[in-house]
Amino acid sequence: MMYSPFRHINAVFSKRHPIHLTFFVTRQCNAACPFCFYLRTADTCQSPADELSLAEIRKISLSFGDLLWLAFSGGEIYLRDDLPEISRVFYTNNRPAIMLFPTNGLLPGRIRDMTEQILRDCPKSVIAVKLSLDGLHEDHDRLRRTPGSFAKTMETYGQLSELLDRYPHFELGVNTVFCSDNQDQMDSIIDFVSDMEDIKTHTISLVRGNLAQRSFTAIDPGKYRHAIERLEENLKTKDSSRTYRFRGARIKAAQDVLQRNLISRTLDEGKRLIPCYAGSLNLVLTESGEVYPCEILGRGLGNIRDHGYNIQRLLLSDRAKAVLNSISDSQCYCTHECNLMTNILFNLRLYPTLAREYLYIK
Ligand code: SF4
Repeated sequence: MMYSPFRHINAVFSKRHPIHLTFFVTRQCNAACPFCFYLRTADTCQSPADELSLAEIRKISLSFGDLLWLAFSGGEIYLRDDLPEISRVFYTNNRPAIMLFPTNGLLPGRIRDMTEQILRDCPKSVIAVKLSLDGLHEDHDRLRRTPGSFAKTMETYGQLSELLDRYPHFELGVNTVFCSDNQDQMDSIIDFVSDMEDIKTHTISLVRGNLAQRSFTAIDPGKYRHAIERLEENLKTKDSSRTYRFRGARIKAAQDVLQRNLISRTLDEGKRLIPCYAGSLNLVLTESGEVYPCEILGRGLGNIRDHGYNIQRLLLSDRAKAVLNSISDSQCYCTHECNLMTNILFNLRLYPTLAREYLYIK
């Protein structure tokens, strides 16, 4: 029996325990994408030697309760040799309903082998791998400053596809970063991904963060709206085998539609439109142990190494309390998809709208 996402329904009413952890496992990367917000941040470690070890990660995970959603991030997460072991630690201690593995797809054989190991070790969690695809052919290579990367990603797609039949808890998807450079190619990217038979879900992440080249963030909100309408149309008109395979998949698909609409409206109105649960339901952990309420705010809660690797102790510190208290009345806003997911799914007031979208999903 899979770990059910519905175990966390209490969090609709009580938001005292984090259930959504984003863990940046490494800063190391084998691509050079100019729109990557993470590799610019100065307060995270530069060397693998400074990264949290497996033993440290085990202690941290023991201090968390059950998780709904564990999203790994980086850097290129598959560069960490111990990614399968890290996954197993969280699987054992925190029973995540969904574990997310985003990858640039540049290491086909390694990604396939590690993913299969994780699929074998974590049979009760949904294992979702998201391949990055930001353009077609040489556009993708140019945008990612990595020659040959489109071909490599396609090779990884082919190798991972072979695992789908054997592992029903495996989800294979594509994510595209929407930025000024590729906003005019979105129709052809969406068409291309629609034709990838084994891709169940295509998501679009709006470029974010404090980038070295600000020009990438100069996007046209109208073009973003057009792209999300196309994805929404696909969700509502295609057969149900072309969406997530896990229990609760239709709710997640309805949430995707609502989330993208909220992002579009946030862009237009320039303000936060719904309450944010960053720091209460969502937390971000970096490879060097820094803990943040979200990836955007830039105000850290402290380093978990200084708090005995115990998240509860860290959250009770004066510094953490001060940051967390400031979030509810703060004027900050963002379009960050991962946080919005929790902000929607655990907000009772949005359930009528969510129900309406749900009815339209095939
Ligand atoms: S609204 Fe965005 S920037 Fe502000 S705390 Fe929430 S996730 Fe962070």
